[in-house]
Amino acid sequence: MVNIDDALNMICKETKILGIENKDLLSSINRVLAEDIYSKDNLPPFNKSAMDGYAIKSNDTYNCSKENICELKIKGIIKAGDFLNGTLKNGEAYKIMTGAPVPKGADAVIEIEKVESKEDKLLIFEQVKENNNVIKFGEEIKIGDLAINKNNIIRPVEIGVLASLGYSSVKVYKAPTVALIVTGDELVDIKSNIKNGQIRNSNEYSLKALVTNLNAEALSLGIVSDDKEILKEKIKYALEKADIVITSGGASVGDYDFVKDTLKEIGADIKFSKIAIKPGKPVTFATFNEKLFFALPGNPSSLITSFENFVKPTIEKIMGKGNSNLEEFPVTLMDDFKGKPGRQKYVYVEIKRKDKDYYAYKVGSQCSNHLMTMSRANGIIIIPKEVGNAKAGEVFNGKFIFRK
Ligand code: AMP
Ligand code: MG
Repeated sequence: MVNIDDALNMICKETKILGIENKDLLSSINRVLAEDIYSKDNLPPFNKSAMDGYAIKSNDTYNCSKENICELKIKGIIKAGDFLNGTLKNGEAYKIMTGAPVPKGADAVIEIEKVESKEDKLLIFEQVKENNNVIKFGEEIKIGDLAINKNNIIRPVEIGVLASLGYSSVKVYKAPTVALIVTGDELVDIKSNIKNGQIRNSNEYSLKALVTNLNAEALSLGIVSDDKEILKEKIKYALEKADIVITSGGASVGDYDFVKDTLKEIGADIKFSKIAIKPGKPVTFATFNEKLFFALPGNPSSLITSFENFVKPTIEKIMGKGNSNLEEFPVTLMDDFKGKPGRQKYVYVEIKRKDKDYYAYKVGSQCSNHLMTMSRANGIIIIPKEVGNAKAGEVFNGKFIFRK
């Protein structure tokens, strides 16, 4: 049995970047940029009004106050998308909408709420400063400036930046193709009514969601019965087609747990097959011709925990990402949690914050067959290997997993 850090190190040694590809803008979400992005334009491309109001010359308002109301002549209206060719002169104003180009000659916009207008007369009751409510030409970024550094992750905000700069596709690091095989004679399609002894194949769906959530390519190969020969053929096929192969179930020591034997038979190099963690002990990691193989346990919450701990960082590393693990912080247990020493335990809980402190509450059984507990949880508490039972009032490290 290996400990978690050793397992991660062994996996890490086998991962490498797969290359670079061009992706359509939207498909690049969650990928890592493989090029520096330079601005092709000045943003904004013109002096832009930040408010609905009136474009004016600020020096027309130097003496304006409630006692000394100024009057300007409204020459017209400029809406977003318009472009005025003329020049605004002293004594004049243009009504202007948010996002519209501030006309030549104008150097400020006064908000509509602060003025009064009667027909073509504009009344101003205060002094307006130069550049007030004007987003200046090129103020955000100029042509040729570096907009986003290579190796940055593309989040929705970067999609927005790239779109505003006119990039409809970008160079990113390739993501691995991940083949998914679920094993088990008890499994039926999720649309089926379950008969005696059967359960719905939920793992295929969780796995597919986990992979596609990282914007890697999932290649779902369906359910394989607990038959050694069929499994072998499926595994061989998966290893041909994908960069990473994940199996669900059949990874333990039961009479029909054939995954490990099959890996041995095809000559895969098994690096480890047990990790000192709960849930998720029977995880096998193997390599075969530079392909990576993860045999994960079939218990639904073990499967997801193992994916999060070992497969996700692998996929992310291949995609050029650093460690995306959320930070751990001290959490006080509000309930007792039973456990045995020997393995590091991940306990799914609800973490609540009160003032500056965090508290963990039970949300259900920690049985690794139950997904409901994980679904109700927003965090995990990490109980070290040496500790057995953990009691209310004790403090352990925890982290958020997904926020509700
Ligand atoms: P195994 O790892 O094959 O021994 O399976 C452990 C447990 O996980 C058993 O209770 C299985 O019924 C369940 N299980 C296995 N595969 C799946 C699956 N694809 N979807 C949901 N549950 C599964
Ligand atoms: Mg099974």
